[in-house]
Amino acid sequence: MRPTYLEVNLPRLKQNLENIRAHVAPAKVMAVLKANAYGHGIDGVAPYIAPHADYIGVALVEEGIHLREIGIHKPILVMGGTLPEQIPAFIQHNLTLAASSLELLDAAEQAAQSAKTKLKVHLKIDTGMERIGVHDYEAEPFLEKSLSCSHLDIEGIFSHFANSDAPDLVHAKLQLERFSEVLYFYERRSLPRPPIRHMANSGAVLQLPESHFDMVRPGLMFYGVYPGRDVKRTVDVKPALTWHSRVAYSKITQPGRPVSYGSLWQPQSPARIVTIPCGYADGYFRRMTNQAQVIVNGKKYPQVGRICMDQFMVNVGNDDAEAGDEVVLFGDGITAEDLAEWAGTNEYEVMTNISARVPRVFVR
Ligand SMILES: *Cc1c(COP(=O)(O)O)cnc(C)c1O
Repeated sequence: MRPTYLEVNLPRLKQNLENIRAHVAPAKVMAVLKANAYGHGIDGVAPYIAPHADYIGVALVEEGIHLREIGIHKPILVMGGTLPEQIPAFIQHNLTLAASSLELLDAAEQAAQSAKTKLKVHLKIDTGMERIGVHDYEAEPFLEKSLSCSHLDIEGIFSHFANSDAPDLVHAKLQLERFSEVLYFYERRSLPRPPIRHMANSGAVLQLPESHFDMVRPGLMFYGVYPGRDVKRTVDVKPALTWHSRVAYSKITQPGRPVSYGSLWQPQSPARIVTIPCGYADGYFRRMTNQAQVIVNGKKYPQVGRICMDQFMVNVGNDDAEAGDEVVLFGDGITAEDLAEWAGTNEYEVMTNISARVPRVFVR
């Protein structure tokens, strides 16, 4: 195996899930496992976590199919946009469809009817994200239509926050109000409403208890990372990732001999420069050049010279370091927030960007 690998602490993830569950009870908890379990590695995370989750959330139907193929039997909601021609795959693999338009609802009813089966559906309402979903102010005919779809099991109704992780919750509360107004349709007509109402992503799990309804959908915080520095940390969660590597090469570099492509950095006096066998093709952002820090033999040092596709260099100065020495790129004092800041992005992209070339090692 490569010396560069990602260690994933599965019991940590389970503990995070349990802490979230204690905070939102009696609401159910959907574990959001899209995007390769936020980079953690779906094949290790899903079998370990599925028994402890009430529902699993993914973005793509392909992600749902993959989970079925590796033996996951829990209900799976495909939350992203779906095209009508993808509906048969939902039926074949017993996946729950996010019905985000009248047309899709119609197509789902027809597909289920011709397959002589029932398809599970969650109605998607757009209350202010302006992504997929039927606008709250146009929801009535959509809900009405759903009542007449006898081949669909309308199990849920949901919406998604655009700003639940912000310190200012004015927009999030407006979205919540719009969603509640949509749900009032069922009361007004004395109709049973879909049993699972859900809206809360990580920010709302932490900051908006009124939004927990019957189920919550935490992604980032399930992986132990808070969405933004300013969010209220009302649930204790801890990161599960450590990105390990080892020194591949060690040499003294002299002043006047700049390091790496573009010659962007050189030492002021002779310095020990070590090479790490990891680069931007592994998801170690090139944008972090001359900004990142790395732990070598337990101590933090600056990354220097342009980050290459498969390797980058670190300045350990006057310290000793040789080929084979332990390196940590992420975890053990270097946080997702740090990498996000160095790369000019957010914690979500830092984690989902770690490429498939980096082996995942699951600790049970
Ligand atoms: C990704 C996603 C989530 C999880 O969001 P986090 O901010 O990671 O908690 C919840 N709901 C939907 C619809 C999503 O796409």
